[in-house]
Amino acid sequence: MKAMQIPHYGPASDLTLVDVPIPTVGDDQVLIQIGAAGVNPVDTYVRSGTNNYTATFPHTPGNDGAGTIVKVGANVSSLSIGQRVYFSRNLTGSSAEFALALPDFVFPLPDNISFTDGACLGIPYTTAHRALFGRAHAQTGDKVLIHGATGAVGLATVQLALAAGLEVVASAGTQEGAELLEGQGVAQVIMHNQADHLAPFQSLDTGFDVIIEMLANINLDQDLKALKKGGRVAVVGNRGTIEINPRELMARDAAIVGVALANTSPAQLKEIAQDLYYQLAAGALNPVIRKTYALTELPNAHEDILKPGALGNLVIDLEV
Ligand code: NAP
Repeated sequence: MKAMQIPHYGPASDLTLVDVPIPTVGDDQVLIQIGAAGVNPVDTYVRSGTNNYTATFPHTPGNDGAGTIVKVGANVSSLSIGQRVYFSRNLTGSSAEFALALPDFVFPLPDNISFTDGACLGIPYTTAHRALFGRAHAQTGDKVLIHGATGAVGLATVQLALAAGLEVVASAGTQEGAELLEGQGVAQVIMHNQADHLAPFQSLDTGFDVIIEMLANINLDQDLKALKKGGRVAVVGNRGTIEINPRELMARDAAIVGVALANTSPAQLKEIAQDLYYQLAAGALNPVIRKTYALTELPNAHEDILKPGALGNLVIDLEV
């Protein structure tokens, strides 16, 4: 099969196309023919060995994907050959024609969702769901800031929050991003690169019940001042350190919670996947794909995912 691989930690330009055997399915595994693979920032951290991520080599990048199950191990009863699925984790890398996965991370894909859309679900929508509901405990009527809403996780959070009847304020870094968010139905868009963009929300009356934060090392200090009493900041993204004043938390009985998809239990993943399935099938969730790439264009996708000016998901289309 064709796969993109890198022999050592290195830049995206070191990724090359290789021909390798199709992996052999173990008793507790499934083999998936990949229709499309999602590209997420974490793929670049693993490839380059940054942000505490490690890899074994040769490394085929990619956690996310969607496709068809072509083999099931002897002990697997929850999934069957021919089933359309998406996955949030796999054993061999999704930048390839086939990947092995454990059933706990593989979920049914509704018939109305294409493989390219399905490739956007694993990390972005699962993380968004867990951040919003599992960690920040958002409830109908809550006022929520999605701080960094133009990327894959941000847009998923916007769609889940609107579908749940939350009052959504969302931030963008570019005018195009702001227009994208307005098109998603966000009534109030703010610009996260403008100084004091949170000032109008920094009172107990105008603040947020929940902030879903995509760049905590830049924003956390100001976020705390924009919480209502009992407010929660869920840290999804962070690329450095920041000084905060804990008194802001005390004054509001507020909380900062961390979110790591890797800590989500199989039971929680299943529950989230069931809710996503229902909402996807009903048309309430619609992944936004900014760009699709051929498998050999993976280096471009790894470079693009870290550039400012996000406008949705980046996807490798294995069917072209
Ligand atoms: P992405 O598609 O690259 O989007 C990045 C987002 O960050 C964009 O919306 C971008 O907005 C925004 N951003 C840039 N500067 C910002 C600022 N000063 N304040 C607020 N937001 C800012 O990435 P993603 O897939 O959505 O992931 C977002 C972050 O969460 C990444 O750091 C990723 O590693 C992390 N993540 C964590 C988990 C977890 O389990 N904790 C899971 C998935 C992702 P503009 O481009 O419009 O400026």
